[in-house]
Amino acid sequence: MNSQVNRRFFSAVATGAMLGLSKPVAAVSMVNPTLDIHVHLFGVGDSGSDCHVAEKVSRGFLFRHLKTMLKLNDATNGTVDQQYERTMVRQVAESELSMAAVLAQDAVYGANGKIDLTATSFYVPNDYLFEVVGRHPKQLIACPSINPNRADAIDELERCHDRKARMLKIHPPTQNVDLMDPKHTKFFFRCRELDMTILVHTGHEHSAPIFSHELAAPRKLRAALDEGCRVVACHAGSGWFSDSPSYLGKFLQLLDKFPELWGDTSVLGTAFRAQDFGLLLDSGKDVLDRLLHGSDFPFPASPVVFADRIGQDTALKTAELQNLIQRDFALKKHLGIGEASALRSHRVVIA
Ligand SMILES: [Zn+2]
Repeated sequence: MNSQVNRRFFSAVATGAMLGLSKPVAAVSMVNPTLDIHVHLFGVGDSGSDCHVAEKVSRGFLFRHLKTMLKLNDATNGTVDQQYERTMVRQVAESELSMAAVLAQDAVYGANGKIDLTATSFYVPNDYLFEVVGRHPKQLIACPSINPNRADAIDELERCHDRKARMLKIHPPTQNVDLMDPKHTKFFFRCRELDMTILVHTGHEHSAPIFSHELAAPRKLRAALDEGCRVVACHAGSGWFSDSPSYLGKFLQLLDKFPELWGDTSVLGTAFRAQDFGLLLDSGKDVLDRLLHGSDFPFPASPVVFADRIGQDTALKTAELQNLIQRDFALKKHLGIGEASALRSHRVVIA
């Protein structure tokens, strides 16, 4: 590495690799469509969207950093909700991927099955999700979020299915959901009847306050898998190198037992997940064939952390992509799993 490359390399690591200009990318293929299965819809509710962000989250470093990074602070460009939607859709449209599954985020529900916004760190309602996806049907498909603790969980599931949703998301550690609670059996049974793919956050969570990391243990997926559901373990049960316990091994064990279990690669391109991502990448073809491409936009990938696998020049060039959806996809293509896992994402969930 010459000294100039050296400086750029370490500067990119230090700044989270968010330098450079966006690049034109290859034409999108609709013959063999590819899907990013994990793109977040966010909002603060300033457009009448009913989105909600708890004060402890909106005051936090991560939230303020993401707002600045995505340039959502210019009130002359519309509301924060509108600016986020525009940025997200533009990045999907300008990426090589055919489309993205966009995720809502349900709230916390009390023992009475009623919504509890005071206990909710962030909330993106399904109605708002369908509105946004309806405005961009070529680029986006809807992944509503349904907390099975809600009294009307099955009604909401059927309503989302009627609105053409093919998948739903549950985030147990932030939504305070114990998937193994027997009261959820009927919900999972109905998911299987409707052929709805269930995305579940698994592994350690670092972007939002949680009730318990145990709620994100892959073993909890048994409740849905035993009902015959197709389940996507978001983040494949991964954690930071400093997290304990490690949940990756259990995820890999479950893959062996349940052919309808998949793992998504969302957030795996970030610095602190590199160790677990490396273990997955080295786990052999049987495991790689079960991974579905996902970015976890707006959380940015850090290609420079993977320089030992993809080479320093490639890592630096990839880090220079400002389009976060494309940067994540490009990194995973260089790691040898991008294209196949993105085709698989579409085939498993949509086709
Ligand atoms: Zn996510």
